[in-house]
Amino acid sequence: LLYNQVQDLKGTIRVYCRVRPFLPGQSNRQSTVDYIGETGNIMIVNPFKQGKDSRKVFTFNKVFDTNVTQEQIYVDTRPLIRSMLDGFNVCIFAYGQTGSGKTYTMSGPDLTSEDTWGVNYRALRDLFQLSKARLDVIKYDVAVQMIEIYNEQVRDLLVSDGSGRRLDIRNSPQLNGLNVPDASLVPVTCTQDVLDLMRIGQKNRAVGATALNERSSRSHSVLTVHVQGKELVSGSILRGCLHLVDLAGSERVDKSEAVGERLKEAQHINRSLSALGDVISALAQKSTHIPYRNSKLTQVLQDSLGGQAKTLMFVHINPEINALGETISTLKFAERVA
Ligand code: ADP
Ligand code: MG
Repeated sequence: LLYNQVQDLKGTIRVYCRVRPFLPGQSNRQSTVDYIGETGNIMIVNPFKQGKDSRKVFTFNKVFDTNVTQEQIYVDTRPLIRSMLDGFNVCIFAYGQTGSGKTYTMSGPDLTSEDTWGVNYRALRDLFQLSKARLDVIKYDVAVQMIEIYNEQVRDLLVSDGSGRRLDIRNSPQLNGLNVPDASLVPVTCTQDVLDLMRIGQKNRAVGATALNERSSRSHSVLTVHVQGKELVSGSILRGCLHLVDLAGSERVDKSEAVGERLKEAQHINRSLSALGDVISALAQKSTHIPYRNSKLTQVLQDSLGGQAKTLMFVHINPEINALGETISTLKFAERVA
């Protein structure tokens, strides 16, 4: 019964672009976004150039203008939550330079107001709702992990001393393949449980931030939701997982300026984001070799990228003139994986 949708659940990669609004108090509101079309086009204008060279059009599955709500952003994630409960793996990424709105999309600006909740909370809220609706047929157990990948090291965000301990990526039959089985796996039964865990995760992430200058923008954070469903009649088990990934800032660091720790961070970030781009574009082109092994990020997500898994990437752009260079490179990255 549950598998009759398999045909339209085949592996797909979708790329959505979201434009961040200008922030209150910003005086220069000249935007690099010239035009957003209804069919997924966005035109970027370079005010320093003239004529044909000053405009470039990029095309994605969708482009969201600055006025869309968190609910509108979330709408296309809902079917993915259903697939996960049917036993498929799903990855949702937020990509973009620091300050472009990645955390806003995934978590929202503030955990206290439900209206502005991000994809993470909405996904979990739906997950619990959908699993309750199936209670007569399947009983689901849900558990979450929260890790960060910083300088090619995997750390547990759900233990307060986790920043000291590096975790291995290895095979775990219980968690359905390649994974981080040593990271805390916490059972949850309602959205509130998840909110509480996210607060812990954010706090543990922030601890590193004071020591290592704005750590949250220099690391990838991955919230993984594992579900295991037991069909009541047949007793058969199905497993699915959802990775919600707030990526490190994609900005290029000027090699002449960055030194020491900062340069090392930048190199790790560049390497892992290009490894991710390589994997997704190889998958999109149905290439026979998928280069998962080039970064910790792609290794952690290996079993949820490709095959029958579904991928949704939100790429974020900051409309300010001084972000133009990063906006263009973000859109080029996104077009390559689309
Ligand atoms: P990132 O995680 O990419 O570094 P943030 O999500 O922290 O960026 O966003 C940077 C700032 O912009 C924050 O103050 C955030 O609240 C604001 N912001 C981002 N996206 C939006 C949006 N769609 N609407 C309103 N404010 C936003
Ligand atoms: Mg952020």
